Amino acid sequence: MSASPSGRPSGLPPYDDGNIFARILRGEIPSKRVHEDEHALAFHDINPQAPVHVLVIPRGRYVSLADFSASASDAEIAGFWRVVGKVARDLGLEARGYRALTNMGPEGGQEVPHFHVHLFGGRRLGRMVP
Ligand code: 5GP
Repeated sequence: MSASPSGRPSGLPPYDDGNIFARILRGEIPSKRVHEDEHALAFHDINPQAPVHVLVIPRGRYVSLADFSASASDAEIAGFWRVVGKVARDLGLEARGYRALTNMGPEGGQEVPHFHVHLFGGRRLGRMVP
């Protein structure tokens, strides 16, 4: 596994091992899992905003995209994004289209401080507006 080129930026908050997704990763809280491997876990969102609403998270301890993109190894980044695409494909979302989205930080609307990508699909989605 190759090292990250830059390391963790100093301005990011520390990772909280008690966050809900850390607990899901450790199996302390149940989740409806759709995929898991060495890099990532995908599971259904508890409060779905579309007919298909799945969350994909890396196994590593990254607070947000800012953290993941700066701190994760190339292998973790590649492995994670391959899972995002594979899960969408396996859930049958590719033919009609879907949305992959991440919220970053307080102004980005991020509630759970473990990096995650939302996959939405199964209906025509509204336009993206800030
Ligand atoms: P954020 O706002 O951080 O981008 O999204 C967090 C997402 O996590 C929300 O869509 C919320 O419904 C989901 N979520 C929060 N707690 C749980 C949980 O315990 N289980 C599952 N499966 N999803 C959760």
